[in-house]
Amino acid sequence: MSQVPNVYDAEPIPDAALVSVRQLLQSGDLFRYTSDNSPVALLEAEFARALGAKYALAVSSCSAALFLSLKALGLPRDAKVLIPAFTFGAVPSSIVHADCVPVLCECSDNYRIDLDDFAKKLPEVDAVIISHMRGHTSDMDAIMALSDAADTPVIEDAAHSLGTTWGGKNIGTIGKIGCFSFQSYKLLNAGEGGIMITDDADLIARAVIMSGAYEHNWKKHPVLQAAFAKWQNKLPLYNQRLNVLSAAVIRPQLDELPRRIKQGRRNHDHVAAQLNQSPWLQVPAKLPPEERAPDSIQFNLIDMSADETARFVAAAKAAGVSVQVFGQSADNARAFWNWQFLTDVPDLPQTRAMLMRACDVRLPARLTLAECDVIAEIILNAVTQVMDSAGEKAAQVASNA
Ligand SMILES: *Cc1c(COP(=O)(O)O)cnc(C)c1O
Repeated sequence: MSQVPNVYDAEPIPDAALVSVRQLLQSGDLFRYTSDNSPVALLEAEFARALGAKYALAVSSCSAALFLSLKALGLPRDAKVLIPAFTFGAVPSSIVHADCVPVLCECSDNYRIDLDDFAKKLPEVDAVIISHMRGHTSDMDAIMALSDAADTPVIEDAAHSLGTTWGGKNIGTIGKIGCFSFQSYKLLNAGEGGIMITDDADLIARAVIMSGAYEHNWKKHPVLQAAFAKWQNKLPLYNQRLNVLSAAVIRPQLDELPRRIKQGRRNHDHVAAQLNQSPWLQVPAKLPPEERAPDSIQFNLIDMSADETARFVAAAKAAGVSVQVFGQSADNARAFWNWQFLTDVPDLPQTRAMLMRACDVRLPARLTLAECDVIAEIILNAVTQVMDSAGEKAAQVASNA
């Protein structure tokens, strides 16, 4: 068989980044507020424009962006924040960090929020964070209609959803605030970093100050000065600013986005079509208004026992493809029962059942279709190896009886 592609290496950072990093190192000017147009300020302007938002604030991580969003909303201590139970551990953590309490909502086996459970729990919460987990977009029309009617603000955790659209709108621009990550496994890679966007001048002013724009550094942000002036000296400074070097690494990657989105979607759909040929595998369909920008693929195992699941994972691994079943490891940060830092983790049987059979495989945008074929073939062979022999065994038992 052809060589198994490496799915771990990142894409090289465009050369333009090196030029600007060298200039910054020569000048020694690494703090975002020393110059009037530091790479961080330029990144904010470019990102806001690209997404179609009025304001952007770049910070040290998406976790910091989520934390500052909750703080900017002015949520009091112990305020409740509704989140999908299928999300990354950083999300409930940012809520704990903001002295609030996460309330977990059931997800369906298409990885999206269960709207019945959402509607049921919405009246008890003060804010909502929608995690578009692995870029799978929940029904934002229904979520916004319910949340607007309840007058509950929605933050979009679009950490891993840059480039995804819903009804033609960019994910992250639908709720009141959208948060994105520049950590290495996301579409734009700076090692670490994050950004939040909003059209609300007062919210961004509060977030800017709390991110560490102490004294009058907020004057270097293009927001109505009146929005800032009233918060002067009134908010804590959490110092979660983005490093100038990170911004210099991200900016030239913005031009790469359309290609990464297009190739990622092509690769995903190419592999999904093959996996869906197997009776044991199911790639959930996207929702109709959604256009995705995936860099990995998720699929469910159908009617496979825990033992068969383990043997399938082992067979794929032996052939060179790492399949992660979200719920099948003791430390997976996307399995809610591993968030033992929460005082009260409820049982969410529907989400738990989904996580026990939902598989995750990396599928970077840079792979060729031939490389994607190798991955699809290994997964299909692994499942056939385990399940067809199980099928034969069952047939044999039946004919002997
Ligand atoms: C990566 C990720 C985060 C956290 O982003 P950081 O920048 O590492 O803090 C939050 N939510 C989701 C869905 C993610 O994928």
